[in-house]
Amino acid sequence: MRIDLITVLPGLVRSPLDHSILQRAQDKGLVDVRVHDLRDWGLGSYRQIDDLPYGGGGGMVLRPEPLFACIEACIEELQNDLGEPYDEIIYLTPDGETLNQPLANRLSLHKNLLLIAGHYKGIDQRVRDTFVTREVSIGDYVLSGGELPALVLIDAIARLIPGVLGDANSALSDSFQDGLLDAPAYTRPPEFRGLGVPPVLTSGNHEAILAWREEQRLAKTQQRRPDLFPPEHEESVE
Ligand code: SAM
Repeated sequence: MRIDLITVLPGLVRSPLDHSILQRAQDKGLVDVRVHDLRDWGLGSYRQIDDLPYGGGGGMVLRPEPLFACIEACIEELQNDLGEPYDEIIYLTPDGETLNQPLANRLSLHKNLLLIAGHYKGIDQRVRDTFVTREVSIGDYVLSGGELPALVLIDAIARLIPGVLGDANSALSDSFQDGLLDAPAYTRPPEFRGLGVPPVLTSGNHEAILAWREEQRLAKTQQRRPDLFPPEHEESVE
């Protein structure tokens, strides 16, 4: 998957991309993340990218000209490199649709994504109206910039791409994949500071382990996230 990311703070996104799963995904050639500095498309000798909002009020707004130029350059570059358009051009914004596992699953099936991280009061509406095909929020709170939301989205998507995780089943059994929260996890030693491990997990009885995990997942989901709890299980956990 090719992911282009437009940001005013390229340095902020580099480190997370250079570690752990995201780094491995790129090393294996499964994800190709390219970071574009909006400032390169800034206006005049000061490379201006923002301006005061029309109508007044606090905060600056990212101007349309640098964003139009940068987005158009990304579109052209992708066309030259792969002969394809973006599947989606996504603006990270608190007023977008809230990111969840089904959305991450769907986006992980795409080949080419362009992400736009905003700043200050956000980006000029004309950019959204002209290019953006989807607007995504990572939750009902406001951050200072779209870089962290973009990284959250990239991580959520990349780990679902076949070959990125060592064990593909690991992502499939995570919370939300089938609507339930994940079961508790234990590893060695079997006893630590007087704290044991549920005996079923060391029993070697695979069926009993699966049944125990399912029971735990249902109980945890009912307790913590009743909004997710499947109605067909209402009685089994009482
Ligand atoms: N004025 C905007 C509003 O109230 O909807 C908030 C702008 S915010 C201070 C600056 C930038 O951070 C946004 O353009 C967006 O890219 C990013 N951002 C902040 N919170 C976000 C969230 N919850 N999800 C996605 N992006 C977010």
